[in-house]
Amino acid sequence: MKKFLKNLQSLHIKLVLIYVLLIIIGMQIIGLYFTNNLEKELTENFKGNVTRQVKQIDYDIQKAYQDSGSAENTQSEIQNIVDEYSSRSGIGESRSDIDDIRVVNSDELVIVSSKNNGNSPSIQKNKDTQIQKALSLGTGNDRIQLRNIGSSKERVWVLNEPITVNDRLVGVIHVESTIETIYQQLDKINQIFIIGTGLSLLITGILGFFIARTITKPIADMRNQALEMSKGNYTNRVKVYGGDEIGELALTFNNLAKRVQEAQANTESEKRRLDSVITHMSDGVIATDRRGRVRIVNDMALKMLDMNRDEIEGRHVLDVLKIEEHYSMEELQDNSGGIIMDINEKEQLIVRASFSTIIQDTGFINGYIAVLHDVTEQHHVENERREFVANVSHELRTPLTSMRSYIEALEEGAWQNPELAPQFLTVTREETDRMIRLVNDLLQLSKMDNSGEVLSKELIDFNMFIHKIINRFEMTEGKNATFVRDIPKAGIFVEIDPDKMTQVFDNVISNALKYSKGKKKVEFHVKQNMLFNRMTIQIKDNGIGIPLNKVDKIFDRFFRVDKARTRNMGGTGLGLAISKEIVEAHDGRIWANSKEGQGTSVYITLPCEVLDDGDWDV
Ligand code: ADP
Repeated sequence: MKKFLKNLQSLHIKLVLIYVLLIIIGMQIIGLYFTNNLEKELTENFKGNVTRQVKQIDYDIQKAYQDSGSAENTQSEIQNIVDEYSSRSGIGESRSDIDDIRVVNSDELVIVSSKNNGNSPSIQKNKDTQIQKALSLGTGNDRIQLRNIGSSKERVWVLNEPITVNDRLVGVIHVESTIETIYQQLDKINQIFIIGTGLSLLITGILGFFIARTITKPIADMRNQALEMSKGNYTNRVKVYGGDEIGELALTFNNLAKRVQEAQANTESEKRRLDSVITHMSDGVIATDRRGRVRIVNDMALKMLDMNRDEIEGRHVLDVLKIEEHYSMEELQDNSGGIIMDINEKEQLIVRASFSTIIQDTGFINGYIAVLHDVTEQHHVENERREFVANVSHELRTPLTSMRSYIEALEEGAWQNPELAPQFLTVTREETDRMIRLVNDLLQLSKMDNSGEVLSKELIDFNMFIHKIINRFEMTEGKNATFVRDIPKAGIFVEIDPDKMTQVFDNVISNALKYSKGKKKVEFHVKQNMLFNRMTIQIKDNGIGIPLNKVDKIFDRFFRVDKARTRNMGGTGLGLAISKEIVEAHDGRIWANSKEGQGTSVYITLPCEVLDDGDWDV
């Protein structure tokens, strides 16, 4: 039922109904106008015809009255006229419209009737009121009345025409004529009209159905296409049936679909690009709605916050960043430089969070975007720099203060003391030497930091190289220390800057000797790893060792395990830092292992060359 009602509302059915209704209205108007006029015309013709005949009879009767002497003669004369007329025109038969003619005299007696058929009439008194009226007024009248014929009825036109002789009313001619035939004709014509209307309705309905289809089909196509478009399918196109307005509409619709498809594709690709940019950004991005609740968050932000998407989405961004107690969204928008915060205590991550607002043209705030930029490294470097400056100042101030106090003592008279003066001068010189060493070390570090120092590498046999260095130490320290060499006989070839690497080994070996007491022993173990083309050297001492938690720090600048003691030994705390820089510049690694009180091992690995026989020819 619902479907039927829906179908009724469809444009197609509406168009067909409009056609049909228009045809019905048109046919009705034509039919009404036509039948009315026809009826008028036919009845007027009929009445005119009958009236003319009656006028003729009236004239004959008037003449009869004037000619005859007696009333009886007149009556038979009139009877003759009527009879003759009846037989001539066939009154009462099917060829004449007139059924009956009666003549009523001024005494209201029916003196002649066509139904008497030549016989003398049986005079009757008139009972018809219209005849009485015509007699009394002297004017004619007419009417249509119903007459019973068996079980059915028929319409009869009754005309009363006065007979005036010498301005004297002598009687009335009463004529009854069957007008039913005209109505029968009109009924037939009406029937023809109804059948014609029905037929034209049927034909119009069928034609209308097909004609309406030519209009509704493209519209239905467009509607289906629009529905598809609303679901996001822009690929289909509407068929263009012609060049009329609907055809143009279909063309425009197709163009529109094409444009929307292109715009959609553009938006999609922009969105994908943006998504991919956001996803692969090295900064964390958090986008919120206008209330500040997180809607989009990229992987980097999740990683920085050490949370998963479900934990964050829907929560307020200030709550996620744990700064809701300190800031409001308005304050953060004004803060163009962003705020530095520690968002992940576990990983000691420091970020700079910058906030921006997404504002529509209307000024309506759509949401906020927080960009988290990892500044941990920057902070670290900044801290290191500050620490370094503090260390350098401290390292320089210590010898300078000591020198100043000795110089002051000398000034105050110690220079005259033959025992103290040389001692004080020696200390002053030693402090100056230390300062020079320190400044030299700093210069070297600074050069290496700025990559200003280019390595002049040579391909050398490492075993020979290390033997030479050990020999030199044996020469100077031979009495106080033993040097154990576990070095393979076959050569290991490395491409190194010999001066720089000598500096590294000098530093490591002198540390091994410096931080050992009693009978010193330094072992050298050299190994080659053919698989990875690397060689490792272990320099092991039996000295004081380093506490476990400080082993990794000995390569930091100015780090000393025991500050007071090592400073006395003349160390700057920069030796291993410089060594590390040099080894790393050679693509190598340096690290240490130690047990407090038992000794320390320093390991250095370097890439080594695998030489083909051909290499020797060069
Ligand atoms: P320094 O000039 O003070 O020796 P280094 O950078 O060479 O500076 O060494 C840093 C610190 O590491 C030293 O002050 C010392 O405390 C520790 N250290 C280095 N080598 C050894 C070692 N072989 N045994 C024990 N401690 C060591």
